[in-house]
Amino acid sequence: MTFREGARINPGRVSVGGGGRGPKMAIGGGIGGLVIVVLALVLGVDPGSLGIGGVDGGSASQSTASGTLEGCETGADANNNIDCRIAFTAESLDQVWAGQLPTAGLNYVQPDVVLFNGGVDTGGCGSASSDVGPFYCPADSTAYFDSTFFNLLETQYGSSGGPLAQEYVVAHEFGHHLQNLIGDPRRNARGAGAESASVRTELQADCFAGIWAYYADKTPAPGTNEPMLNPLTDRDIADALSAAASVGDDHIQQQSSGRVNPDSWTHGSSAQRQQWFTTGYRTGQISSCDTFAAPDLG
Ligand SMILES: [Zn+2]
Repeated sequence: MTFREGARINPGRVSVGGGGRGPKMAIGGGIGGLVIVVLALVLGVDPGSLGIGGVDGGSASQSTASGTLEGCETGADANNNIDCRIAFTAESLDQVWAGQLPTAGLNYVQPDVVLFNGGVDTGGCGSASSDVGPFYCPADSTAYFDSTFFNLLETQYGSSGGPLAQEYVVAHEFGHHLQNLIGDPRRNARGAGAESASVRTELQADCFAGIWAYYADKTPAPGTNEPMLNPLTDRDIADALSAAASVGDDHIQQQSSGRVNPDSWTHGSSAQRQQWFTTGYRTGQISSCDTFAAPDLG
């Protein structure tokens, strides 16, 4: 129950793709996958690489962003429903980063947030299927979430199922949006490996997620003197760390092939992801998240 029961959000904060939560419309896997690959080459944008963990594009389907989320009015709704939880987490992230990003000399601009089911046409990164996992598209400044992923996070990746496990995923994708606003060119470097720029980019997004957790239960919602979140407990933080570990490259490799190969890492190991979330959570300082300068990533 991370959200205060009476917390409120702007009901239009997130959009729902595909005209609602209906069944997906498959259009043929190869084409959608190809679109993503081509756009990645052209734009330097790769939904998979800016996602939460090692999931690759597969079969594609598409839908068009339309509509708003209904029935998500209070924190009680967010505590009961995953789509509402994503929307409330997005609004909490907006509040925290509107306060914190100016400490780095920058103004915060909200990303768009789209919930989709099955597949989605992005505004700048081609079409994506659920197989890509949650991702952020810099070209349209939008974070995309298929809420069915949050079930996989628990059943397939092995995360604990607490709310902060899911909220960490949302906060991670917002971390990529912050990188976009900050504009450090190192976030666009390609390549793989335990010390690669890709891994450093992902670990920085984890660190930013930790900063959100630090402030989320301390930042009053606009017009009130109460934060949207209840005080975070040790259990909540354990859930976030469990999620971070579950999408570590070594954990995913071990699960899928039984072998761990650091040379192909793009997101970092379970231990690294936990460490950088913790760094952000302990310090609350953007400057503590300079993974690009860190001599040792953990
Ligand atoms: Zn990421």
